[in-house]
Amino acid sequence: MHNLLAQTYDRLHGGKCLSRADALQLSRIPDPGAFFALADTIRRDFMGNRFHLCSIINARSGNCSEDCRFCAQSRRHTTEVAAYEVIAKEQALKQAKNSDQHGVRRLSLVTSGRRLTDAQLEEMRPLYAAIAGETSLALCASMGLLDGDGLQRLKKMGVSRYHCNLETSASFFPRVCTTHSHRQKAQTLKQAERVGLSLCSGGIIGMGESMEDRIDLAFELRELGVKSIPINILTPIAGTPLADQSALPLQEVLMTVALFRLINPDAVIRMAGGRQQLGRDQYRCFTAGANGAIVGNFLTTVGSGIEDDLHAFTDLGFVVSGE
Ligand code: SF4
Repeated sequence: MHNLLAQTYDRLHGGKCLSRADALQLSRIPDPGAFFALADTIRRDFMGNRFHLCSIINARSGNCSEDCRFCAQSRRHTTEVAAYEVIAKEQALKQAKNSDQHGVRRLSLVTSGRRLTDAQLEEMRPLYAAIAGETSLALCASMGLLDGDGLQRLKKMGVSRYHCNLETSASFFPRVCTTHSHRQKAQTLKQAERVGLSLCSGGIIGMGESMEDRIDLAFELRELGVKSIPINILTPIAGTPLADQSALPLQEVLMTVALFRLINPDAVIRMAGGRQQLGRDQYRCFTAGANGAIVGNFLTTVGSGIEDDLHAFTDLGFVVSGE
């Protein structure tokens, strides 16, 4: 097996991609410590020690027509999530300024729903204008299955990156959501790239998928050219169909992070929602290939404090400067 680790190192440094068969074999490695160390080395060799921070604002919450089984915001599930149409500008600005003051470089406005209408998109304009005017944050958007016109409109509002999670592999996706498809999400990402936006897309682990599904997702993201990959760990929420899903063991989380790094050596592997469930162990993800995080609160779950996160990332030898 050590031979496979050495071969993987040489393969990646030779500019070649890990094969799916090798990824599968690595996922069964009896000595994961050496595997995590390899992922950490590849992260350093391809991406250096920059740590990439971003944060998100829930700009429109709840009342969603879709049936994503993990999500508190679907109106098909009975949850206690707050529902509102558009966040107040003052509140968005306060959160944005707080992120800016803590060295966060990117901020995304995230909205619930299948896709925003043109009128709803226009309601985002004053929010982006205020944030751009009063902070130095680069702007992202996550607003569902937009078409080229909607994405172009966002670009004109100053947005430079579009987020749309594939969530899981194409084959597992129908077990997570039936009201839209994996293909529609991939098409949205391709459309975003066509209008000149950079891409952010990842998924949620711990929804009952296999390691093979996670490997497939990592390859699907690679094929789409995604360079910012958020990994969420399912937070089971009361009232959703996945409320009773059991937690993923830490080792499996670390294994997934390491595989995502080896399959996407030059991408930001960004720990997102759910990492707080691991307590201090969450920071081990950043010694197994991850080099970015969403900080502050997540959409419907409370995150760790930004200060605690920043100390932890610096203690691990990262320089917090990326987006
Ligand atoms: S993930 Fe998005 S599309 Fe799916 S239910 Fe939640 S808000 Fe709606």
